[in-house]
Amino acid sequence: MSDPRAQDVLQRVFGYESFRGDQQAIVDHVVGGGDALVLMPTGGGKSLCYQVPALVRAGTGIVVSPLIALMQDQVDALTELGVRAAFLNSTQDWREARDVEQAFLDGELDLLYVAPERLLTDRCLQLLDRGRIALFAIDEAHCVSQWGHDFRPEYLGLSMLHERWPDVPRIALTATATAATRVEIAQRLALDEARHFVASFDRPNIRYRIVEKNEVRRQLLDLLRSEHEGDSGVVYCLSRARVEETADFLCQNGVSALPYHAGLSPAVRASNQSRFLREDGIVMVATIAFGMGIDKPDVRFVAHIDLPKSVEGYYQETGRAGRDGLPATAWLAYGLQDVVQQRRMIDESPGDEAYRRRLGQQLDAMLGLCETVECRRVRLLNYFGQTITACGNCDVCLEPPQAWDGTVAAQKVLSAVYRLWKERGQRYGAGHIIDILRGKATDRTRQHGHETLSVFGVGADLSESAWRGVLRQLLAHGLLTVDHEGFGTLALTEGSRAVLKGEYQLMLRRESEKKGRAAKSGGRARAAAVELPADAQPLFEALRNWRGEVAKNHGVPAYVIFHDATLREIALARPGSIQELGHINGVGVRKLEAYGEDILRLVA
Ligand code: ADP
Ligand code: ZN
Repeated sequence: MSDPRAQDVLQRVFGYESFRGDQQAIVDHVVGGGDALVLMPTGGGKSLCYQVPALVRAGTGIVVSPLIALMQDQVDALTELGVRAAFLNSTQDWREARDVEQAFLDGELDLLYVAPERLLTDRCLQLLDRGRIALFAIDEAHCVSQWGHDFRPEYLGLSMLHERWPDVPRIALTATATAATRVEIAQRLALDEARHFVASFDRPNIRYRIVEKNEVRRQLLDLLRSEHEGDSGVVYCLSRARVEETADFLCQNGVSALPYHAGLSPAVRASNQSRFLREDGIVMVATIAFGMGIDKPDVRFVAHIDLPKSVEGYYQETGRAGRDGLPATAWLAYGLQDVVQQRRMIDESPGDEAYRRRLGQQLDAMLGLCETVECRRVRLLNYFGQTITACGNCDVCLEPPQAWDGTVAAQKVLSAVYRLWKERGQRYGAGHIIDILRGKATDRTRQHGHETLSVFGVGADLSESAWRGVLRQLLAHGLLTVDHEGFGTLALTEGSRAVLKGEYQLMLRRESEKKGRAAKSGGRARAAAVELPADAQPLFEALRNWRGEVAKNHGVPAYVIFHDATLREIALARPGSIQELGHINGVGVRKLEAYGEDILRLVA
């Protein structure tokens, strides 16, 4: 039942022995002319799902992608494999575009990448009418979702593809996985008949860790120094200013860090992105403007130093770590201030009440993940409608947090907020509330006579940071809220009363003691070379150096020539002939021809 031509393309062109997971079924379905909606986590192997059918079917596969800045790299990588690929986008001059158009009309392209706004122009539609189309692949299909974090209005126009070319199969792909998003994609792209392929979203090689934020830059630096020295990684921040200051801080401390955010000029962004892809060990400090479509396989960590706005966004961003399947870290530092700030941003955001409610729900889900005493992975996958057992590779599994009865502590906080409001008509932020609870005399307590409040000093038994933990969790659970007037002042909620009345026991979470420090939770996420046996190391290094040279000469990232995983296999297997080398995963016909002799010489 499966198509022998697909298997042949997989082995000959891509150099892979077998399909992974659903790939085979998807490829067969699309080769047979069916529509498909593919949901696979980052690194799951989505590209082959449309590249193989495009090579098997007659005509050119049209790939719709919003990622103009990455098209050149994608085309270069395919060219290295001997695939005839090109793109049409606004970075080209008219002459280049004309040549690509001609190649398409002459049937000389296997794959053509086009930005959606370009595709929807009359000129482009008419061009496509005059050539032969193998399929449409709609990459990053979640961009059609208005509620999502990457909405692109141009994507809404893509439903017309079906009307204009009803016989051409369409395959939409995304790594965003909630059921709601899936339904929305199918609807908006008019994929009524499409078969849905939903892969497991588990990324077992990623270790999820969420720590309490205190001195976040220090904590970040500790993480990099103790576990990810010299590794490539991404640090996500909420604002441009924070990107800049964090990148500066890391550079001053000897880390090769670069900034990336929408406020930088396109030239600087392109150059930083290109360095991240091409050089080893660059740390990209970025807003969420960075990362979609970046297929660098050896990103060893993704760190968030501000709270992401949704679990979907968080999962998408952390998914950029460890695409090569080797161990990687997803690390998030989060604290009281994050909750206050995000609640405030939601209150102040434009849009109607329904929109704000939705943002609030997304934040609540994210906070639930942060405060969980359950396995993080169980929680994450549950969010995407998938069930697993505790993973053994997240901070909760490795160092279970303790639960303690926080009812009385919570009552102290809530009654302080209540009294200030009721008796004095005043509202304050977390810092001042904590000062009152701990009985700390400050200018403000004196000035406002807060030392005479009955709650003054009732919480001297807990440290300031313990109180911050209590307040943070009350906010996260919606038992306390940020006042709508803004300024981060605190107010009671509907739920507060039951706690004040002692109607139930409120269990809170306390970090295990070690975690605050740069605890080694079970060894560092090792880079590819470290785990090789000693006698294979020199060959691996020699292959890497050779690869670096070739990549430089071709002007492409090193992993486009060969992945680390392929070089590892070569270093271990020491193939003695072209034929043996051809059996290594990731060595296809074209690369065997181009580099076979070089590699055999290095092995010998
Ligand atoms: P996605 O687009 O889903 O994030 P990619 O298509 O970039 O993932 O694939 C992730 C990695 O897995 C790539 O390095 C790719 O070469 C590799 N890969 C994909 N399919 C296979 C396969 N069948 N066998 C071996 N490696 C594969
Ligand atoms: Zn776990």
